[in-house]
Amino acid sequence: MMRQFELVERVKSYDPAADEDALNRAYVFTVKAHGSQKRASGDPYFSHPVEVAGILAGMRLDSASIITGLLHDTVEDTLATLDEIERVFGAEIARLVDGVTKLSRVELQSGQTKQAENFRKLVLAMSEDIRVLLVKLADRLHNMRTLRFIKDADKRRRIARETMDIYAQLAERIGMHEMKDELEDLAFTELYPDARGSIIARLAFLREKGGDLVPRVIAELQKTLKEGGIDAQVSGREKSPYSVWRKMQRKDVGFEQLSDIMAFRVVVDNVEQCYQSLGVLHSRYPVVPGRFKDYISTPKPNQYRSLHTGVIGPERQRIEVQIRTREMHEVAELGVAAHWSYKQGAPKTEGPQYRWLRELLDILEHASGPEEFLEHTKLEMFQDQVFCFTPKGDLFALPRGATPVDFAYAVHSEIGDTTVGAKINGRLAPLRTPLQNGDQVEIVTSKAQTPSPTWERFVVTGKARARIRRFIRTQQRQQYLDLGKAIVQKAFRQEGQEFAEKALEPVLKTFEVETVEDLYVSVGEGLHTGRAVVHALHPPKPDEKPRKVVPLSEARGRSKGKPSDTAVPIRGLIPGMALHFAGCCHPLPGDRIVGIVTTGKGVTIHTIDCETLENYADTPERWLDVAWSRQGDPDQTHVGRIAVTIGNEPGSLGALTTIIGKHAGNISNLKITNRSQDFFEILVDIEVQDVKHLTNIIAALRAAPSINSVDRARG
Ligand code: MN
Repeated sequence: MMRQFELVERVKSYDPAADEDALNRAYVFTVKAHGSQKRASGDPYFSHPVEVAGILAGMRLDSASIITGLLHDTVEDTLATLDEIERVFGAEIARLVDGVTKLSRVELQSGQTKQAENFRKLVLAMSEDIRVLLVKLADRLHNMRTLRFIKDADKRRRIARETMDIYAQLAERIGMHEMKDELEDLAFTELYPDARGSIIARLAFLREKGGDLVPRVIAELQKTLKEGGIDAQVSGREKSPYSVWRKMQRKDVGFEQLSDIMAFRVVVDNVEQCYQSLGVLHSRYPVVPGRFKDYISTPKPNQYRSLHTGVIGPERQRIEVQIRTREMHEVAELGVAAHWSYKQGAPKTEGPQYRWLRELLDILEHASGPEEFLEHTKLEMFQDQVFCFTPKGDLFALPRGATPVDFAYAVHSEIGDTTVGAKINGRLAPLRTPLQNGDQVEIVTSKAQTPSPTWERFVVTGKARARIRRFIRTQQRQQYLDLGKAIVQKAFRQEGQEFAEKALEPVLKTFEVETVEDLYVSVGEGLHTGRAVVHALHPPKPDEKPRKVVPLSEARGRSKGKPSDTAVPIRGLIPGMALHFAGCCHPLPGDRIVGIVTTGKGVTIHTIDCETLENYADTPERWLDVAWSRQGDPDQTHVGRIAVTIGNEPGSLGALTTIIGKHAGNISNLKITNRSQDFFEILVDIEVQDVKHLTNIIAALRAAPSINSVDRARG
């Protein structure tokens, strides 16, 4: 295990300005916090955070990252709290530790490989600071290095699978190839030990048969390049067992036919020499078609730059060659960290030290091109989404702001339609609660439930909205239909005629409708009267005045053009329904409103945020989706109520009434609710046109010096 001074020295070697004192304190803090805890390996637990810090130092990260590495398990596994960490190490470190702690709580369940992409997005979304991800990767790398000590085989497999599917991929995505290779190989060892064993054995056999083929190829490549006038550094290696295995799977070939298991790297001084080297190799050896890629002129989004080619090289071996400059090489191996270290080499005046973090975000945000991993590299994109789990562990990606109702519809329309409640992380929560990343959401359903019109106001997904609207439309049509039918039947009775549904069919044409149901709906909507229907069938006797049938198109046009509903300023109501404005919340045109149906009393209109609505929470069938038909009709006033606190001094009440009068508000009631030595609390009812009118009055009142506070009174 790395000792305290070794760690500090290593950090100071690349970052002389590192906060030595904080590093020392973090080291001591983690050793104390983990105390006598032990790892599965039998090592003291604190060896783990120290190793993680060591890995981060190897990546040449800033001291905040190293300190986070040291502290990353203290909140989850020891008595230390986030508050304590914030007190001792400051807000930045606390935020980073919190991020890593939260990440550690999400685990990919077994058998969910198809969810891997969503899961990678979840991790990225939760790593709002890229350093959180870097610490998590270092944490995972050390856990993988010590995976063999875990006794539970299922757990080992789960962790290895997660490493392969999630963390190795994320490492690649941010350009950390070394990290990716090691994570993959460690996971491969756990998941497919036999396959890995046989690949390694085969590689060893070939090596022996070929008699140190790699060094001979290196030597010849070096000589060839030298003859072409290029002084290059050539290195070579067998491909990793995992990449060989993957190629075997992908190409469906056996190991015998797999020829290019060696990769060589040519490192030169500058870009010109890269292309020169390529020319030399291509003119000296047969080129394998389709293998040339120019990532210098078109870098990968993670900043990887190199020339790739395949040739039948020395000793007739099919080999892969990567050509790059030294700087490109470091970036390829270390990813973001190398990028930063190059920036470090720049003059000190170049600005904030850890610019590369922002630059990385920049790369991720502005990457574009056809690369395979490009699709999801935009970190910012994930900030628009939340990722939530079902109790079984299935993962759903939803737009930010999504609620349990959106979640329910995402799982299944049927579940959405019958939702009555939701548990978020095991606790009952209101259906309008915005979901957070990593939430586990359990939807409570009831067969008797139907979508509530109120849901439409808070759902954010198109699917949920469409289903709810469709339901409301069907429900509304049903209401009109029932009402229309009742009106027609009543009209028949009043006219002394016998009612028979079938008998209506001949007159459908007259009313421009297709079916009897449509006729009922049009009557329910108030487009025709019941009497007109009766008279169409049974023309009135000559002494009565005949009623003219107004064709549907005309009726509709009429109701659309000139508002015939002056008396009813609310849309979404069945004509003739009694209407009240609730005395608890005093809704005004412009307020968002909802109607509550009370049997025998018609509809009461409340503002959407009225507390009284809680009483109707479990009778969604009584809720009506309504809206104001017009705003600011000067002929029609509504009563708004405000709560005012004024100073108990001469003239203050006068000032209040003067201001209201000046703004064309008419006080209809005034009630003193509380009177103390210094203040009056008053409820004032004011007749106004709409909510904007009231808001203007409130604003004017607030500006008056004798008035302490003014608010809209609610409930
Ligand atoms: Mn850990």
